[in-house]
Amino acid sequence: MASPTASLNLTGLALTPGAQRSWWLRQALAREGDPAPLPSLASHVNADVVIVGGGFTGLWTAYFLTEARPDLGVVILEQDICGGGPTGRNGGFASGWWDELDGLVTLYGPEAAVRACRAVSSSIDAIGRFCDDNSIDAWFRKAGYMYAITADAHERLSEEMVALAREVGAPDEMRELTPAEVRARCQSPAFRGGAFMRDGASVQPAYLARGLRKVLLERGVRIHEGTTVTGIDGGDRPLARAGGGSVRARHAVLAVNAWATGWPQLGRRLVAWSSYIVLTAPAPDRLKEVGWTGGELITDFRTSLRYFRTTPDGRIAFGGGGGRARRTIDDAFTHDARAVNEAAEGFRLMFPSFGDVPIEDAWGGPIDVSPTHLPAFGRIHGTKLYYALGYTGNGVAPTHVAGQVLADLVLERDTDTVRLPMVNPKPRMFPPQPFRSWGAAVVRRAMIAKETAEENGREPGFVVDQLARMPRRMGYLLGH
Ligand SMILES: Cc1cc2nc3c(=O)[nH]c(=O)nc-3n(C[C@H](O)[C@H](O)[C@H](O)COP(=O)(O)OP(=O)(O)OC[C@H]3O[C@@H](n4cnc5c(N)ncnc54)[C@H](O)[C@@H]3O)c2cc1C
Repeated sequence: MASPTASLNLTGLALTPGAQRSWWLRQALAREGDPAPLPSLASHVNADVVIVGGGFTGLWTAYFLTEARPDLGVVILEQDICGGGPTGRNGGFASGWWDELDGLVTLYGPEAAVRACRAVSSSIDAIGRFCDDNSIDAWFRKAGYMYAITADAHERLSEEMVALAREVGAPDEMRELTPAEVRARCQSPAFRGGAFMRDGASVQPAYLARGLRKVLLERGVRIHEGTTVTGIDGGDRPLARAGGGSVRARHAVLAVNAWATGWPQLGRRLVAWSSYIVLTAPAPDRLKEVGWTGGELITDFRTSLRYFRTTPDGRIAFGGGGGRARRTIDDAFTHDARAVNEAAEGFRLMFPSFGDVPIEDAWGGPIDVSPTHLPAFGRIHGTKLYYALGYTGNGVAPTHVAGQVLADLVLERDTDTVRLPMVNPKPRMFPPQPFRSWGAAVVRRAMIAKETAEENGREPGFVVDQLARMPRRMGYLLGH
């Protein structure tokens, strides 16, 4: 094994994130023969449902709409290409919600919280079945999700998480791991004990998104890429306006994730934080050395979460650790070399034995952080506009739930899905701009500084500590 102080090889590529699409998406596009984007909208069309955004939320909504009503006229308008946003850039953690029980129980009570968790768990399995049924090799592997404790302060969090699952009657969903059990799954000098959630699957997210797009095209869904929607006129038949044309529909679905910060009706429900991922060269022998061959998803307990997973060819994709909060979705979400370095530093800390393994790629994207750390799905009161937002960096499995909810709401179907607690919940708001972005930026840096200090066995300074605690004091379910 290499010495723990060995330096990390960052290639030039990694230092210029945003200069290209994510590695996942480049692979997926290459597998399709690098097709041209679908033609942008260039005329006026009528439809039953217009969906703005070709990420997982928009794609699953179209999927469930056409599953229920194959005759429905569905149009998707995507400013980039389908999967070009966070959907094709995320870590590929399709993870359960048993680690969200604290917030769910606080907001909705134990019974509804468990229903919500079971819905997300079912979605994980359903994603696997969707891949099988449609012959989509998206590397779906359900190997569970391990939480690793990396600081004293996190021991209590781990215990509480496990205890809460027991209290709501779901002891099998989240269980404690001793330090030896953690080491048996993955050895890192940074890991102590931990917890294990059995509902967790890894996917290659861009393979999944592009596979979904293909299925929709086969079903006759019209998709226009390179089409930015500049506004939607509400009313009885919403009109989505884009540069070259417009779509008049009976219902409109806003599936724009962090870009909702720019939509007046929804903007105060989220702040956009960035997250970045670095990807190593294949190193299957090193993975064997640290015993990480089971395919588990792994995270630590930081609010500025570090998350990491392996790929079938023996790479590690390692995310988080830094990032910024911003007012608009700009280059800071894709071109932030400091955030890449912070992710790389986290990787070096956790996996010193990979010191000479090159990092081959890096990319980032926006995360739509909600005041509750949970998403909300619903209809804007008095309109035919529907939305799903606030995934807070955990959307791969929940977007599958959102797709079912939005389809059922549009079709006015009275199902268990529309009775989930995150459907049309009481709206929670952040302060108005500019305080929202300034506050989010300051608090984000304070949380990172506090957690880094704790990890290094230092006390965070008074001001940093107070700032990091501010969201909880203001009633938001963010931070510890
Ligand atoms: C680096 C990173 C890592 C992540 N890791 C994970 C993970 O491991 N597990 C997990 O569960 N979640 C993860 N997430 C979060 C996850 O990717 C999202 O929650 C999920 O992709 C949300 O899907 P979506 O369709 O709602 O949004 P998006 O994927 O953002 O799709 C929204 C789409 O709307 C389009 N759009 C926006 N505005 C307009 C407009 N005006 N007109 C037309 N189109 C528009 C955008 O171009 C975009 O394609 C991560 C996110 C990031 C950035």
